[in-house]
Amino acid sequence: MVNWAGAYDWWSDTDRVPELLARVESGDDAEAWRELGYRLVLEHDMVSAAGFVALPRLVRLASDSASARRLAGEILERAAAHHGCDDLFADCAGAVAEFRELLDGYLRSRPADYLASFRALLAAEEQYHWAAVLGDFTDDFHRVDCPHCAVEVTIAIGGHGRYSAVRDWDLGDVDRRHLRPVPPAALAGVGRWMHGTAARDGEDVLAEGITHLFGDAECPSCACVFNVAEEYASANRPASG
Ligand SMILES: [Zn+2]
Repeated sequence: MVNWAGAYDWWSDTDRVPELLARVESGDDAEAWRELGYRLVLEHDMVSAAGFVALPRLVRLASDSASARRLAGEILERAAAHHGCDDLFADCAGAVAEFRELLDGYLRSRPADYLASFRALLAAEEQYHWAAVLGDFTDDFHRVDCPHCAVEVTIAIGGHGRYSAVRDWDLGDVDRRHLRPVPPAALAGVGRWMHGTAARDGEDVLAEGITHLFGDAECPSCACVFNVAEEYASANRPASG
């Protein structure tokens, strides 16, 4: 039983979302998917109450519909923010577990939208930071502060190089140091899980990028060595509560 009363979308409309859901359930409807998207999620980390009420129905469509997978993933990526819907989100626990299982099976099929689905799975696993920032490692740059001297260090992991550097607006990335990837066997926690999943599915570029992201970097300024993922995640962890 779904009680839509009070589950407003971004346009304070209680009737529109159930109607749109009925339309996408009776067949793929690009117009209805588009409208559902802007009624349920906003660009900047926001999800409406109606998004959580709609989530179980989106998950039921997700095995056959890329649009449903994408929208359910976007809702979950925003679940870490302050949305004031903790009770509604708690009611989604079963749907989230179902979505995790579905995405894991989907990733094993090595789909073209692997990264987007991988990020949705990270969100379903409540790894919101990595769900939001993980790239495909073709041209990725991350900025972290050195934990010792606080200088801003640019971390590059991509086809152009894998290094730590100081970014100079005139000269580019100067004083580059090679990153020190972590051996896969030494990975722990979410890094181990992310690498294992990507390697299992033959996503070699992603898997190798993860060993660099969870490896060490040398600060070009003070030469201390720090773990990239630890500094990055601690600086970007969403406020709890
Ligand atoms: Zn330093």
